Amino acid sequence: MKALVIDTESRTRFTELTPPECRADEVLINVRRVGLCGSDLNTWRGFNPLAVYPCIPGHEIGGVVAAVGSGVRAVAPGDRVVALPCTECGVCSACLNGRPNACKDNQTLGVQRQGAMTPMVALPAHKVLVANELGYDELALVEPLSVGLHAARRAQINVGEWVAVIGCGVIGLGAIAAAAAMGGRVVAIDIDRRKREVAGACGAERFYDNRETDIAAALGELDQGRGPAVVIEAVGLSATIEQAIELVAFTGRVVYVGYAKKPVSYDSARFLLKELDIRGSRNATVADFRAVLALMALRRYPVELIISGHYPLGQADRAFADWAADPGAYTKIMIDV
Ligand SMILES: [Zn+2]
Ligand SMILES: [Zn+2]
Repeated sequence: MKALVIDTESRTRFTELTPPECRADEVLINVRRVGLCGSDLNTWRGFNPLAVYPCIPGHEIGGVVAAVGSGVRAVAPGDRVVALPCTECGVCSACLNGRPNACKDNQTLGVQRQGAMTPMVALPAHKVLVANELGYDELALVEPLSVGLHAARRAQINVGEWVAVIGCGVIGLGAIAAAAAMGGRVVAIDIDRRKREVAGACGAERFYDNRETDIAAALGELDQGRGPAVVIEAVGLSATIEQAIELVAFTGRVVYVGYAKKPVSYDSARFLLKELDIRGSRNATVADFRAVLALMALRRYPVELIISGHYPLGQADRAFADWAADPGAYTKIMIDV
């Protein structure tokens, strides 16, 4: 079977793999859809410090079960499934604290181990969730939307609080939809006005263009001049990482889910003067996946607006090049396998 391999920066090729076997505790999945993630694009560009080359990318999977091992009960052939792409070691402090999403030795599909840009993968049954009422496009969106929902959970949003989300990629959109579902009043911020419609459809009440609007002035009027209780940063640039601290209300919560590519320096006096809670957010738990599946079944995500285009597996290399050439033009690219 064919698989896309990233050899090194911007160099891809197709290779032939032997289809995987299905062990007793495993599920064999026919991959139907793979979402291209920003982390896959970074791997392609050579900017992903976690990637192990040569790398078969792909961890946002929608598929159908081809076979199950003799010990598997909860999943059956023909089930539509989404995959949980991360492993956990079970012995690090994150795992022992019940937060395996932040495992110190996490191995993600398509990053540190072989991914799903190929027609078949075998995964442990506990890394698969069944959702027969959803289509493959919806299933392939569940992973990045779960990462966004996890960031909103980390913010511990209360009903009626103003929540600013910086960055309207799929993770930011996932945070917007989750924050709205949790009762937050959401302000979306992006540098691309084309994101206004999709952010609104996810539940944002307001949208601001970070290049055209004085965001500090606009957000400073929220909550009778107190500002947003929560800021979620889903970009990963120095400027927006600093901006989050500026924008948030005194004693607010800042959640960082955007992965910074280089170190950021800032005025730490603001942390203590505002007595902020600053929290990282990494990956997603199985509970987050289940919450997204529930919201998806309620049609809370504008799937057609989020998906910018489809490419067949044989043109997956072109999908990377097109996305890299105009990142703002795409929200989510799907590879049809
Ligand atoms: Zn991803
Ligand atoms: Zn661990």
